[in-house]
Amino acid sequence: MFSFIMWLLVLQFFAIFLLFQVNCLSKHPILIVVSYDAFRYNFFESEELPNMEEVRHRGVYADHLINVFPTKTFPNHHTIATGLYTEVHGVIGNSFYDPLLKRIVTISPDMYNYNDNVIPIWRLNEDFEDERYSGSMMWPGGDFFYQNKAITWSMPFHSGSDWYKRIDQALAWIQDPFKPANLVMIYFEEPDTHGHAFGPNSPTVKNLIKKLDNITGYLHQKLKDNDLTDKVNVIHVSDHGMTAVSPPKFVNITQYLTNGTYEWAGASPAIQIIPHDGYEDGIYNALKAESEKHNYKVYKKSEYLTRWHYGNNRRAPPILVMANVGYALDDLIISAPKYALKYNFTLTNQSEFGVHGYDYTDPEMHPYFMAVGPKIKQKVKVNPFHTIDLFNLFCVILDLPPTKNNGTMLPSNEILIQYGYATSTIIMISVGAVVLVLVLISMAVIFTLMLIKRQQNITTTAALNKRFPQTFQNYIEAQHLLDTEEA
Ligand SMILES: [Zn+2]
Repeated sequence: MFSFIMWLLVLQFFAIFLLFQVNCLSKHPILIVVSYDAFRYNFFESEELPNMEEVRHRGVYADHLINVFPTKTFPNHHTIATGLYTEVHGVIGNSFYDPLLKRIVTISPDMYNYNDNVIPIWRLNEDFEDERYSGSMMWPGGDFFYQNKAITWSMPFHSGSDWYKRIDQALAWIQDPFKPANLVMIYFEEPDTHGHAFGPNSPTVKNLIKKLDNITGYLHQKLKDNDLTDKVNVIHVSDHGMTAVSPPKFVNITQYLTNGTYEWAGASPAIQIIPHDGYEDGIYNALKAESEKHNYKVYKKSEYLTRWHYGNNRRAPPILVMANVGYALDDLIISAPKYALKYNFTLTNQSEFGVHGYDYTDPEMHPYFMAVGPKIKQKVKVNPFHTIDLFNLFCVILDLPPTKNNGTMLPSNEILIQYGYATSTIIMISVGAVVLVLVLISMAVIFTLMLIKRQQNITTTAALNKRFPQTFQNYIEAQHLLDTEEA
C-alpha cells in the first residue's frame, strides 16, 4: 500500500514537472536567428566545421546569400531584421552624415530611428498579438526603441563577453515561465573583429571559425538536452564576408583634396565625402581625375547604381569613393599601425587586414545561410537568395503577416515544409473539414431515409385506399395502420 502511494506521488510529481516544462514555452512558433559577423560563405570549403556541417545537411542551406550595399555590418543586419534596402531603412553605413541632424551619426538610437515605418521583426512579433515576446542578444540595433517601445528581452552589445553565456541566456528567455520569448536574435562579433586586424586568411581567424563551429554545436546540443529540437526553428546567417588587403594596396585619396572643404564618414572601402557649400564639383573632379590610376571609383549621388538601392535617402552622401576589390583607403592607412600596436605585431608590406563593404556582387562579400527546425525542410539545398527575403521567411515561420518590405516570398516556398500555414493551423483545418463532411453525410442520410419512408407511406396509403376505399379515407388513418403493422 505504501509503495502504491509512493508511486502515485512520483507520477504526480512527474506530471507536474511535465506540465511545467510545457508551460514554459511560448504557444506561438519559436525562432532563433543567429548571426556570425563576417562569416564568409566559403569558410565551409576552407575549414573543417563538423557542427555547422551537421546543421547544414540536416536542414536547408544555400551556397551563399546576396546581401545589400554597402556590405557593412549595421546596414546588413538591419536589412535582415526589416526586409528593407539600406535607402529605405536609413542605416546607410556603419557611420554617416545626417543632413537633418547636421552631424556624423554612429551606432545609437539616431542611427536606427530613421522613420516610424521601419519595423524590425522583433517589434512586429511583439505587437501582433498578446504573449509574443522577443529577445535581442547583442543584435546590432536590437536594444533601441522602435515605435516608442523596447524589446522584452535584451542584452546590449559587450565585445568579448562569454559566448556560451549568450546561448544560455537566449535559451533561458525562450523557457522563461512568465514571458517566454518566441523570437530571439543572437549576434557574435567574430570573425569580424579580429578579421579586420589579421585578415580573413590568418590563423587567428581560422581559430575563431573553429570556435564558432563549437558554439554552433553547443547551441544545438542545448536545444536537444532541453527537448527543444523539434520545437525551435534556428536560422544561421552572416551579414557579409571579408577580403584581405595589404599596405601596398592602401590608397590615400585625401591627398587630392583641400583640408577644410569637406567632412568624411565611413570606412574602407566606401568613404563618404560631404563637401562644404560650393566645393562639391571641385572635389568630385579632383577625385575623378586620379581614380583610374589609383584603383578606386568616385560617384556623385546622381550616379549611384540603381540596383544598390542606396541613393534615395537624405543620408546617402553627395560623393562616395569606392576602392576597387582588394584595395583600401585612408582610414586603413590610419588604423593599420593602431592594430599593430594593439595586437603587438610588426607592420610590414606583407601584413594582411580584413576589409568588407564592396559591391555585393563580389563573391568574397557573400554571407552564408542555413536553417533547421520543425518548419524547415530536411536535407535540402536551395539556390542563393537575397537577404531582403529573410524578413518574409521569419514572418512565415512566426505566423505573422509581413509588413510592407522589399523582399519576396520565393525562398520561403523553397525552405519551409508547409509554406504559409503552421502545423497547428493545418491540423485545425483538417479536423474542421472532416467534421463538416461527417455532418453533411449524416444530413444527407437522414434526408434520404425520410424521403424513402415518405414514398413508402404514400405508396402504401394509395394501395390501401384502392383496396379498402371505404375504410381508409385519408392518409392519417393509413399512417396509423402502417405504424401498427411496423410495430
Ligand atoms: Zn559585419
